[in-house]
Amino acid sequence: MGALWHPFASMGLVDGHEFVIERGEGSCVYDTAGNRYVDATASLWLTNVGYGRTEIADAVADQMRHLHAYHVFADFATRPAMDLADRIASLAPDPGSKVFLASGGSDAIDTALKLARRYFDEIGQPQRTYFVVRDWAYHGMHASGTSLAGMEPNRARHGPLVEGIVKIPWDSIEALEAVVDEIGGDRIAGLFCEPVIGAGGVRPAPPGYLEKARRIVGDAGALFVADEVITGFGRVGEWFASTRFDLEPDLITFAKGVTSGYAPLGGVVVAPRVAEPFWQPGSDVMWRHGYTYSGHTAACVAGLVNLDIIEREHLVARALDLEIVLEDALDSLRAHPVVTEIRAGTGVLGGVQIDPELVSEDQGVTGRAALAARDAGVITRAIGGGGLQVSPPLVVTEAEIDEIVAGLRTGLDAVA
Ligand code: PLP
Repeated sequence: MGALWHPFASMGLVDGHEFVIERGEGSCVYDTAGNRYVDATASLWLTNVGYGRTEIADAVADQMRHLHAYHVFADFATRPAMDLADRIASLAPDPGSKVFLASGGSDAIDTALKLARRYFDEIGQPQRTYFVVRDWAYHGMHASGTSLAGMEPNRARHGPLVEGIVKIPWDSIEALEAVVDEIGGDRIAGLFCEPVIGAGGVRPAPPGYLEKARRIVGDAGALFVADEVITGFGRVGEWFASTRFDLEPDLITFAKGVTSGYAPLGGVVVAPRVAEPFWQPGSDVMWRHGYTYSGHTAACVAGLVNLDIIEREHLVARALDLEIVLEDALDSLRAHPVVTEIRAGTGVLGGVQIDPELVSEDQGVTGRAALAARDAGVITRAIGGGGLQVSPPLVVTEAEIDEIVAGLRTGLDAVA
């Protein structure tokens, strides 16, 4: 028996049967027996630059040797934290944005939810406390993110959580309009919105949805929060999906690809109009928020070098090219007898939907398909609604994409 309690795991089944990964290179990882796997998940959608980047490891080690970490509370700062914030702002839809740093996506969501309410309190609209969220949404697992969960099982059985969360169908503009009418636009603080729903099944929004949703939220005077924890830093062929869809969000939550996971880091990009009341020259307005590891020095160095690599190797443009290659490759699974839908075509993201009837009869079917794919040398995983996740590193080759499709087919055959 081991002591490690795995997230989202039935420990009674996992204990003693762990799948132990030992090393990685490019788009592949290797287990302790030396078996090679093409990682169609980039771990949890994070390894944008791929595995084995010694350049990041060396820079982090060097930073750790002279200062591993110092906080950035009050007037304290470190050069890497300042530089990373400036760099992220320069890539954001509005380069005048401010950047609040944290340790991951759940921190980012917690920060965004609190900032939205704190902002409206600051500008004299404290009645704006409601948040709208879409079915299938995944916004992390802190209390805020759990409260915002679009997938009910992720929220249920934790007692009272954050109040004032209203859930709507993920793809309906009419539902968003109705909820604004019902609650009253002047009581809504914001909409949390993944430009492409990730863990909930890889669901790109219907054409025009995001732009219309953004307009409705803006007309109500509420904040549009783009959760780009998955879609940020190149995965959808732009630095941010918000740029691709011209969303001009008020807040962008990010994590994962900002460091490609070489160190835990996340945060929130805050548009100038939202930051403004807190940044008035000479004003003593303070936001009482922040984490010990906000702007963790070595993690920020990992972020800076990771962004250097994304830029130098043109991985954002590469993701846009791969979007077509991946969609075409996955299309060959459309005719498989257990597949009902292929969702792809927005960046290096794909969802292979197993027949929902089969999934409702047998909840374990997607997990078994993923295991069979793994035995065939391809790592995928079950996502919301019974799909299989496809989100390899942005350095994945076309030959590896073919391997991914072959592995997925083996997995699907195993449950046909
Ligand atoms: N938001 C989205 C869209 C995510 O996909 C995730 C994690 O997968 C999170 C937030 C939470 O991020 P973390 O697991 O780093 O806390």
